[in-house]
Amino acid sequence: MALRFYNTLTQQTEPFTPLLDNTVRMYTCGPTVYHYVHIGNLRTFTFQDILRRWLRARGYQLNHVMNITDVEDKIIRNAAAEHKSIEEYTEVYTKAFYEDMDTLRLERPERLVKATEHIADMVAAIQKLGERGFTYVSEGSVYYRIANFPGYGKLSHNDFSGIRAGARVDVDEYDKADARDFVLWKARKDGEPGWETPLGTGRPGWHIECSVMAMKYLGETLDIHTGGVDLTFPHHENEIAQSEAITGKPFVRFWLHAEHLSIEAQKMSKSLGNFYTLRDLLGMGYAPESVRYLLASVPYRKKLNFTFEGLKAAATSIERLRNFKLRLDTDKLAAGKNEKLVERTRAAIKAFDEALDDDLNTAASLAAAFEYARDANTATDAGEFLSGNTAGALHFLERFDSVFDVLKPSARVSGLSDAEVDAMIAERNAAKKARDFVRADRIRADLAAQGIVLEDTKEGVRWKRQ
Ligand code: AMP
Ligand code: ZN
Repeated sequence: MALRFYNTLTQQTEPFTPLLDNTVRMYTCGPTVYHYVHIGNLRTFTFQDILRRWLRARGYQLNHVMNITDVEDKIIRNAAAEHKSIEEYTEVYTKAFYEDMDTLRLERPERLVKATEHIADMVAAIQKLGERGFTYVSEGSVYYRIANFPGYGKLSHNDFSGIRAGARVDVDEYDKADARDFVLWKARKDGEPGWETPLGTGRPGWHIECSVMAMKYLGETLDIHTGGVDLTFPHHENEIAQSEAITGKPFVRFWLHAEHLSIEAQKMSKSLGNFYTLRDLLGMGYAPESVRYLLASVPYRKKLNFTFEGLKAAATSIERLRNFKLRLDTDKLAAGKNEKLVERTRAAIKAFDEALDDDLNTAASLAAAFEYARDANTATDAGEFLSGNTAGALHFLERFDSVFDVLKPSARVSGLSDAEVDAMIAERNAAKKARDFVRADRIRADLAAQGIVLEDTKEGVRWKRQ
């Protein structure tokens, strides 16, 4: 069966091909850069990375846009608390986000775009909505009149026909029960940053940003739009209302939503404070590949309950495949080719591909890889795996890793705190003083294995993380 995805809009699993040519036009709601992203956010971004890689494996090219929300209520509040401009404040977390993406081997979308660099485009879009009769002004702010958009509710599958016309909401995030006219342009309040525009001095609401940047770079109808499930309503519902009111055309063909990562049965979120960042986990000594594997291993439409046991199990799973690859690279095998194993390899690749074609069923594709590794190991032990079978097995592992990307170890990231490093250095100094150079060298090597490099200077020992 062909490549297919579950589409939130139609509530069906549908065969996927791009609309125009061989290029998939895809938009992803990126992070709000008011903090480091947590591993819940990263689950959604990892799903998008697997999606990208699988679309490419299936022969498509990508035009993928992701926004960075760098102006928003929480950003403004936090920046003010730290007496910083929003640029200064968001720059740190934007940079950290790019670093986290690299650490987790998340491919960069073809375009990463910032909300604050598209204010004029947003103003133009709001003006167009005004010309078409979808807006009204109240106390200097511009609102979208949802009663004028007949399809309102079609993505979140809610019947909003009974809503109170004219009731409005100024905040960007709210519940389904609270469906109301939403803000497109917020008039500046005291102490807030604002842009002087024909709409008045103010700033855009969150929803208009994505409609505008998506259509600017991808055209009026996108192939795929992704995000976490919490964005379905109101954010994506509002994106549809804005975009379709402007163009009169379908905004997005396939809406793909990732389920949440939870911890102790609660959604991991910044506002609940129950979160780990990638940096937290690396600081505890876990490898980035383990985090990536764990986040990718549960199919994206299933809830993922984060546990440290799960993270350790991910490391073990990766180790098994690495050992299998090591064996393929180094074992001395008898000459020849076992046709039964050629067939077994073909079947494994087929099972792997079919699982990912099935709405990215990562769990089933991983199962195909592990069952194959087990069978190949058994065959090797029995002397049935011949040198002519190696290329096929390596080809499968390459295909596996073009999607999961966990086989190559990352440079070690230290799990030691600064105080622990200092304590080990003090121990090494004591060993040197006692002329126990073997011990001193051992400590230096142990630190090096954790990515800590020592430099002996006249002033004493300096160290840095690699
Ligand atoms: P935000 O920075 O809050 O706008 O979120 C960035 C992305 O992470 C969005 O696609 C959210 O839907 C997603 N997200 C937020 N919390 C979680 C979670 N606990 N699990 C999975 N995805 C999440
Ligand atoms: Zn968005």
